[in-house]
Formats: sequence, C-alpha cells, structure tokens
Amino acid sequence: MRCPYCRADDDQVMDSRAATDGTSIRRRRRCKACGRRFTTYERHELKSRMVVKKNGTCAAYSRDKVLQGMITACEKRKHITLDQLTQAIEEIEAELFDSQDCEVPTQLIGEKVSEFLQGVDEVAYVRFTSVYREFADVQAFLETLKPLLQKNGAKPPVEEEVENEEHDTECSTK
Ligand SMILES: [Zn+2]
Repeated sequence: MRCPYCRADDDQVMDSRAATDGTSIRRRRRCKACGRRFTTYERHELKSRMVVKKNGTCAAYSRDKVLQGMITACEKRKHITLDQLTQAIEEIEAELFDSQDCEVPTQLIGEKVSEFLQGVDEVAYVRFTSVYREFADVQAFLETLKPLLQKNGAKPPVEEEVENEEHDTECSTK
C-alpha cells in the first residue's frame, strides 16, 4: 500500500481488525520509508449494476427509478402493496443481474416488470407497459391489449384467430 505522505510503497501492517459495523477490515500500517502511520479499510466490492439503454448508452442501475415507475402504474390500485413491488424488483434484479454479467438492457427490465404486473393487476400492467414501450402507434398498443380483452370475454378489435391445438394431436402408440 502506497504511503499517503511520502508515496513510498513499503509498509508494515501493525494491526488488523474488523470495523465496528462488520462490513470492513481496518488495518493500521506503518510506512517503512518515513515511519508515519496510516489506516486503510478493506471492504467487499459490490458488483456495480449497469443498464444499457435503448440508444446504446450505459447508466448506473437505479432501483428507485424502476420502483417509481411501478408505483405510478399501480396508483389507486389498492390491493398492491409496496412490499409486493419491492419483492418483485428484488427477484427481477437477482434473475437479471446474476445471469447477465451486470449489464442489463432496460428493455429487459421493463419486460420483466411488465410480466409481473400482468399477473397482479391488469390496469397497472397496461399503464406500465404503455410507458416503457413508448408505443409508436395505436395499433401496437391495441396488440398489447388484445390478450386482455380476449381473456375478459370481449371481442378482439381486429380479427379472431383460432389457435391450433398442437398438444392434443400428439399421440404415442406403441
Ligand atoms: Zn511514508
């Protein structure tokens, strides 16, 4: 460790102990060149979480920003609690940042939050999705609404498609 006084890189550790909060190690050192003493702290390096925006630029990930977006989407939807949202974010963070080398596209975070909200509250889902996807046109927005409308028994706005029932045609005879 380089001495802060004379810049010599030759010191002796006199004493090491855990700092009171337990998150770092405090070392008392003595510079062998000038004899002065100084203290260093070692702590775990937290992996920094970065997001990649749509335009390709990187930014520090902010949980507050995501949470704010969710809170706005859930405004006046009384059955959704802050705890629920925080927990969802934590799960999404764990999933994305652990697997993606700490750099996650904001788009992907949006998708995950969207997915979560879809399972919790349809109004919040539509609100959130319409903001983060920045729908280019009304048609794209309607496409997102379609599954919801179908689920609720309303007629879809455009055409009606009959799904192929792939799984029923699989038969195994020996
Ligand atoms: Zn020194």
